[in-house]
Amino acid sequence: MTQDFRRAPLAELAHHDAFIQRHTGPDAAQCTAMLNSLGLSSIDSLIEKTVPAKIRLGEPLALETAKSEVEALAELKAIAGKNKLHKSFIGMGYYDTHVPHVILRNVLENPGWYTAYTPYQPEIAQGRLEGLLNFQQMIIDLTGMELANASMLDEGTAAAEAMAMCKRQNKKNRSDTFFVAADTHPQTIAVVKTRAEHFGFEVVVDEPEALANTECFGALLQYPGTTGEVRDLTDIISAAHEQNKLVTVASDLLALMLLKSPGEMGADVVIGTNQRFGVPIGFGGPHAAFFAFREAFKRNAPGRIIGVSIDSRGKTALRMAMQTREQHIRREKANSNICTSQVLLAVMSVFYAIYHGPGGLKRIAERVARLTDTLAAGLTERGFSLAHERYFDTLCVKVGEAQKPLYHTALANQLNLRLVGEDCLGISLDETTTEAEVNQLLNVFCAGDHGLQLSQLDAQLAEGALPAGLPSEQRRTDAVLTHPVFNTYQSETEMLRYLKQLESRDIALNHSMIPLGSCTMKLNATAEMIPVTWPEFGKLHPFAPIEQAQGYAVLFEQLEQMLEACTGYDAVSLQPNAGSQGEYAGLVAIKKYFESKGEFERDICLIPASAHGTNPASAQMVGMKVVVVNCDSKGNVDLADLNAKISEYTSRIACIMVTYPSTHGVFEEGITELCAAVHNVGGQVYIDGANMNALVGVAAPGKFGGDVSHLNLHKTFCIPHGGGGPGMGPIGVAEHLKPFLPAHPVQPVPETDVANGTISAAPWGSASILPISWMYIKMMGREGMALATHMAILNANYVAKKLGDHYPILYKGSEGFVAHECLLDLRPLKEASGVTEEDIAKRLMDFGFHAPTMSFPVPGTLMIEPTESESQEELDRFIEAMLTIRKEIAQIESGEVDYQTSALHNAPHTQDDVLDGDWQRPYTREQASRPAAWLKQHKVWPSVNRIDNVYGDRNLICSCPTMDEYRS
Ligand SMILES: *Cc1c(COP(=O)(O)O)cnc(C)c1O
Repeated sequence: MTQDFRRAPLAELAHHDAFIQRHTGPDAAQCTAMLNSLGLSSIDSLIEKTVPAKIRLGEPLALETAKSEVEALAELKAIAGKNKLHKSFIGMGYYDTHVPHVILRNVLENPGWYTAYTPYQPEIAQGRLEGLLNFQQMIIDLTGMELANASMLDEGTAAAEAMAMCKRQNKKNRSDTFFVAADTHPQTIAVVKTRAEHFGFEVVVDEPEALANTECFGALLQYPGTTGEVRDLTDIISAAHEQNKLVTVASDLLALMLLKSPGEMGADVVIGTNQRFGVPIGFGGPHAAFFAFREAFKRNAPGRIIGVSIDSRGKTALRMAMQTREQHIRREKANSNICTSQVLLAVMSVFYAIYHGPGGLKRIAERVARLTDTLAAGLTERGFSLAHERYFDTLCVKVGEAQKPLYHTALANQLNLRLVGEDCLGISLDETTTEAEVNQLLNVFCAGDHGLQLSQLDAQLAEGALPAGLPSEQRRTDAVLTHPVFNTYQSETEMLRYLKQLESRDIALNHSMIPLGSCTMKLNATAEMIPVTWPEFGKLHPFAPIEQAQGYAVLFEQLEQMLEACTGYDAVSLQPNAGSQGEYAGLVAIKKYFESKGEFERDICLIPASAHGTNPASAQMVGMKVVVVNCDSKGNVDLADLNAKISEYTSRIACIMVTYPSTHGVFEEGITELCAAVHNVGGQVYIDGANMNALVGVAAPGKFGGDVSHLNLHKTFCIPHGGGGPGMGPIGVAEHLKPFLPAHPVQPVPETDVANGTISAAPWGSASILPISWMYIKMMGREGMALATHMAILNANYVAKKLGDHYPILYKGSEGFVAHECLLDLRPLKEASGVTEEDIAKRLMDFGFHAPTMSFPVPGTLMIEPTESESQEELDRFIEAMLTIRKEIAQIESGEVDYQTSALHNAPHTQDDVLDGDWQRPYTREQASRPAAWLKQHKVWPSVNRIDNVYGDRNLICSCPTMDEYRS
């Protein structure tokens, strides 16, 4: 650096700005220092001692060399430019929307919101928990139901989860048939059919009237229907109830601002998407779905429910309720396999509602309804007839043989309509539709100048002289969104401050490292995030003609190739929108493969005891039986037990699901043997790729024995966790499974067969966040991708080394090293002192840290994963915190300090504590809240004290408390 810049070669000067150095925390000096502390002289020797030689890659990844931020953004901009932004009137659950700018910039583009994790540590997550509670309140209000969960992955999977819940819930009706109304979105029908096939249910798709004559345990109706019809479902639902059938209604949030609610009509479950409430359409996602239900179903509900409880000072505090805190503990008995969901998008949508308020939302809905009425009046005036008399925002125009010509005329005018059957065209209007566009649409249908006065039509509508789509008897009369939170923040200043207030209660990556094992909380670089909000990616309708999405097509193809290079697989499907969905898609592919070979008896899925809970949950969803394989005392899969189970089940074995490196934090030497043993009896190997951050550029699952893996792009490939979603869980497969990748009924996915089924509502899942992973791989290149893995392993080993003398490291590899994460065994300390893993997790908050993963995969442990993005300074701060805590434990062990009154047991400490005039603790306020020097510079105060989970579960409240309760 001291060198005169005129003497350095130009290329070297450019190198100073290399992204690789920005992404990885440790610089060369730190790297050397950390290696020294491990007694090693080079990174290569570390990798040799951690990764078994037989699986190590002999050559560099087949990726390009690294690009700079500027170069990569320019290349992606050119690709994005190939997308064409026509105006879409296609509807089908996807609508253009104005994302309020205050939310766009301060939530969607703000790392304080998008880099947080799922709120497992509620005391430092009260901001997004309040956002989610508001979301539940909004859904309860609009659907007219008793309870709602905190979001689902998409509308299609929400419908499928509703089907599964109704089956669990309905004990009075033993039928295995599920009824779906024909006027449901086709992608929803496809997802429901796929799930039903693997649960062993039959699906009947028919007109809603046919429900009464169909023997079934439950039904899905859509309101308004996919082609726009609004009909009162009250009688159909009550007739179904008399026959012990449970009814799910798929609905639309904006329509529900005006329409009688499904709850009022008697629905048991109400689902839908929140997309049009201020979430970019993004070629299909990410968006959140909602899921509302009767109180009586609460123990059977999928997903997470946020509930109100109290903290140790009796103050109102929020946290995940009941079994939904750790739903996967129930493994194959879990209600659903959902882990990562769509928190960021759920909170965005409720902020949209908060910003507009009930009055603003109603105006938006009324304007859309009025424009639709105007269009309908114009069309009927010009001799067209409509398929439905009652509608909200969607018209189904009967055009007969003119269908294709009109469709193409619209297309030529950059207007996308929906082809409905052979002789109708669908037109859906939205918040962004203008009068000029209604004019344009009328001109298309009238072959030129339609010659109508829109203002005159509108005036006649206002007087009631023309028929309107929504008759008064179908309109809702109850007040919605009356809670103060929806009526307080309608100025931008107030909104901005509310968002900031919530954000500042939470710990996200813009504050400190989040060492959550198995979650890979690495840098989500700004340059990676920027393309997400480019309109070229954000504004495309997922069912727009594919010629308009050529930019996306290039992005998908390139990303698939890059992921193939990283994993060693032959093909990739980008459809699954979370790891759990990837698992499901992979297992479906395995099942279909065996079916194609006539091997129907294979129904066993072997799963090691250390597996993540989503694995057994996914296996039971495809109808496989889970057989648990033990782990040995070193944490490895017990190969003797594996072989015994293989001999016992032989040709019944469908597959093994194994995480590599294991969630115990070691590269198991026996992996190739394990794969061979399963292959030997004709089984398939599913390698859970959540831990790919320890593998990329070092070893490839597709090369050491895997047949299929999912990748969590929101772990290894830099998509931020969003406070609990979005994510993406694409799968890589070997050649023989390629014919069985998921398809889509509306927008064909190249080289897929619709018989394979559909996993997500959108053909490429959450397409608009894929640019993040594309940017990451482009900017790291072949050299950076491997380096990231090396540094992740180095950082984990450094932490393990520094903490290992004070807390036992539960599992290590044969040479004494860990993989990219390590497990601290707290059980001996707990025995000696009474201090629990929870005490340590809460005490870390006083230091400004989010706790590591608690009690997974082994109870009584903490799993630390630092990732490559943390510098040695940050690791040292974390280590210092852990060592200070260890001394506090020692004082309890020795009897010097009483556990009940210790800082550990009373953590976290809040401002209420230190300002309490009656401070009686045996430690000082300084020790309580500033246990390390750096806290004098900057501190995040936990906004509540330790939360009482049991109290909240006994007094379940999942809607917003009154303002007075917050103040108490
Ligand atoms: C995170 C994780 C999953 C689940 O992935 P989601 O994207 O959260 O659904 C599965 N397996 C392991 C080992 C994981 O760490």
